[in-house]
Amino acid sequence: MARISVPEADKIIDKEYPVLDKGFVRLVDYMGGDQRIVQSARVSYGGGTKTYREDRGLIDYLLRNGHTSPFEQVVLTFHVKMPLFVARQWIRHRTARINEISGRYSVMESEFYLPAGEHIALQSDDNKQGRSGQTLDPKEQIEIQGELAAQQKRAYQDYMGYIDHGIARELARINLPLSLYTQWYWQMDLHNLFHFLRLRMDAHAQLEIREYANQIFELTKIVAPMATEAFEAHVLQGQSFSDYEMEALQAMLGGKKNPLSGRRREIFEQKLKQKPKQNP
Ligand SMILES: Cc1cc2nc3c(=O)[nH]c(=O)nc-3n(C[C@H](O)[C@H](O)[C@H](O)COP(=O)(O)OP(=O)(O)OC[C@H]3O[C@@H](n4cnc5c(N)ncnc54)[C@H](O)[C@@H]3O)c2cc1C
Repeated sequence: MARISVPEADKIIDKEYPVLDKGFVRLVDYMGGDQRIVQSARVSYGGGTKTYREDRGLIDYLLRNGHTSPFEQVVLTFHVKMPLFVARQWIRHRTARINEISGRYSVMESEFYLPAGEHIALQSDDNKQGRSGQTLDPKEQIEIQGELAAQQKRAYQDYMGYIDHGIARELARINLPLSLYTQWYWQMDLHNLFHFLRLRMDAHAQLEIREYANQIFELTKIVAPMATEAFEAHVLQGQSFSDYEMEALQAMLGGKKNPLSGRRREIFEQKLKQKPKQNP
């Protein structure tokens, strides 16, 4: 059986897609695609290539029913440049293979993330981990950007001062801020990549890591369009219901009132609202 190649994906290899103010995502390489998923799923009974429709149906069936191992046969490698605070969240996804630039070996570049004015917002009242939709007025946004930039400049000047003094790079760096950009090669199989995307494209994830996840999703669509289509339908835009929510749903379909109250009702009603498409 010939190696799987995806001509559309070959066209974007090594292309840099900007994210945030100075970051990027590049697809370095991929192994397999939709065809690898159907090959692996059919290997048990030696089934050959089928029609486009049958392959699409099989992939949809596998994803919908949690037959995830064929998705692990597809592997993607990305080169990503992101601020350290994004990398800290990202690294929690333990199933990746990673190589990161070493601040012990190399002198770090003077590259820091400065949030766009419209992304500088107040703390959310209802989400303890996030920012609210309430942004500052343009004058305050510019002031805060100016302060952040000045702090970053000072931290980098101090860092370079230590480097010029011959202080070890591994020590000179320790006061550099979380806004400093780092880079890594990140390799992930498609099953675990979908898990990462589900968590990090979600509205609860921090805006900055969401921007990377959205871009990675776009590139993954090119490598495995049928699989990402099924993932979008069943996971990103899909919904699951607990037993009491199912009872409520059945009652409502039978023309009765929603029997739920309080927090349960609130969560249920949120679920019933169509999630906005991530990438309209
Ligand atoms: C919105 C959001 C907020 C978060 N807030 C916090 C926070 O405040 N504090 C914090 O510490 N973390 C936080 N996290 C990180 C979160 O708890 C997870 O560590 C992260 O999302 C990675 O998920 P994971 O472990 O499922 O993924 P992966 O590490 O990629 O693992 C994938 C799956 O593999 C399995 N697996 C992997 N390793 C093991 C293992 N050693 N043992 C058993 N099963 C394993 C699990 O089934 C797991 O779901 C947050 C994440 C999100 C998305």
